[in-house]
Amino acid sequence: MEIINVDVLVCGGGMSGMACASFAAEAGARTLVIEKQGEIGGSSNYSAGMFWAPQTYEKLRNWVPQGDPILQKAFLDDYLPVVQFMRASGVPIAKRFDGIMTIGIGFPIEISSLHKLHRKRIESSRTSSEILINTSVVKLIQEEAGVAGSPITGAIICKKSPGFPAVYCEIKAKIVVLATGGFQGSPDLVSRYLGQGGNKIFVRSNRGSVGDGLKLALEVGGGTSRGMNSYYGHLLAAPLQSEDVNPRDYLPLAQYPTESKHCLLVNEAGRRFADESMGDEIINQYLARQENRRGFLIFSEKVRLQHCVTALFPNAGDVDRLQKAKEHGCNVGTASTLKGLLDILHEWGVDRVQAGRTIEEYDRVVRLGDRDLACDASIGAGGSVPAPLVENEGPFHAMEVQPSITFTYGGISIDSKGHALTADCARIPGLLVAGVDAGGFSNVGYAGGLALAFVTGLWAAREIALQLGLPQPVLPPANVRDGEDLPIEALL
Ligand SMILES: Cc1cc2nc3c(=O)[nH]c(=O)nc-3n(C[C@H](O)[C@H](O)[C@H](O)COP(=O)(O)OP(=O)(O)OC[C@H]3O[C@@H](n4cnc5c(N)ncnc54)[C@H](O)[C@@H]3O)c2cc1C
Repeated sequence: MEIINVDVLVCGGGMSGMACASFAAEAGARTLVIEKQGEIGGSSNYSAGMFWAPQTYEKLRNWVPQGDPILQKAFLDDYLPVVQFMRASGVPIAKRFDGIMTIGIGFPIEISSLHKLHRKRIESSRTSSEILINTSVVKLIQEEAGVAGSPITGAIICKKSPGFPAVYCEIKAKIVVLATGGFQGSPDLVSRYLGQGGNKIFVRSNRGSVGDGLKLALEVGGGTSRGMNSYYGHLLAAPLQSEDVNPRDYLPLAQYPTESKHCLLVNEAGRRFADESMGDEIINQYLARQENRRGFLIFSEKVRLQHCVTALFPNAGDVDRLQKAKEHGCNVGTASTLKGLLDILHEWGVDRVQAGRTIEEYDRVVRLGDRDLACDASIGAGGSVPAPLVENEGPFHAMEVQPSITFTYGGISIDSKGHALTADCARIPGLLVAGVDAGGFSNVGYAGGLALAFVTGLWAAREIALQLGLPQPVLPPANVRDGEDLPIEALL
């Protein structure tokens, strides 16, 4: 077997892996990025490019109290300097948006430009660093094979080319970084950690993230984080199977928070089961526990016009969402009266009588506008107050929705330097983790996606520089700290 010597092996060329490799190579580490698929970028290629983070630590703690506070704080400390770095490096960044994912601020970025920048920094560095595509990391090598927590000294990789036998190669590396993007695509792992039926949830992710990082870490004694049973995703038009949808359609088929926040959501039994205003990244997880995982959004024409035909922000899928769902053969119905809409729901298998009662009761509470009553009925706790349905004129609309997993919140246990930890919280020498593979930041509530991946990739690069005695990555100082509402013009 051929042996290649490098300083750093990065497993996964997505958002976190590319960020890590870009800073590590720039610092002077000979870095090899291994990417399983035919192109780098992972899920970020299908993303809306909203580089967001919670506005303040306090907001984050209130929204995601079950996440790890030390990791969360460390993430926010690096968020704005990273935005500043991209801007200073010429990555196109749009103006700041507020209220992202209820608690956040965000900057839409051009993902392809960011990866171009990373690639250039990796491939033109003086260290002969490189990126190999269509190649997977299949096994970690330890100093003492099979001894939990024994130092990592490299990995076995496997290159597959159509029509040729697979080629295996040993990489000897001083440091290995796991950045494979989570375990949402592994039916076994989602069944184990998310519970029965976890493997039936629509996978809304790049197709390469199938839990390799987690499996590799577990094999060498890695521990798991908090929140192993929770995940990020959106309500998606239904019925649809993951394998039948082109990933480029993930965005327009998702019923984004603003829209679903203004709808009434019932299950097959015709009952509400969650406060819609919490945002669909949260109620998505509740829907997964309902009978047959079937949900039905009910809304007025006013809501459709305000929220279903425009994008939330640039790149977020500027399409008529009902039309898009119809084109995919999903259940979408329109009626001039609520009675007519109940008939449609009945045809889809929803309990018509109970759905009618639910609409009536929901509407009564919303119309009264009584906060205590609304609170008892779990309406509007997420901040947005829905409009009463019956006071609006028809037509009325209904859409069947299903839960989806974009990425898993739980993963390998890490510290705030990016070290992989054992179940006893001891560092595994030579093993770092970044991006979705690193668990514990989010838990039921969503703490971050693209930005979190970039920041944890940066942590790994800092640790690499420290361990190899190289200069630390330098970021321009941020003009805005912790999301304080200072003049943003300085940043833009
Ligand atoms: C439709 C969609 C929209 C999104 N929109 C947003 C948004 O607007 N804002 C936001 O913050 N987040 C968004 N996200 C989430 C964001 O894309 C992810 O949080 C981010 O990409 C995670 O980075 P990562 O490096 O952990 O994983 P990824 O970027 O997914 O990269 C992981 C890479 O590892 C590779 N890999 C897996 N196993 C191996 C192996 N054994 N060997 C080698 N390579 C391997 C995979 O092929 C993949 O390329 C969105 C995601 C999707 C799918």
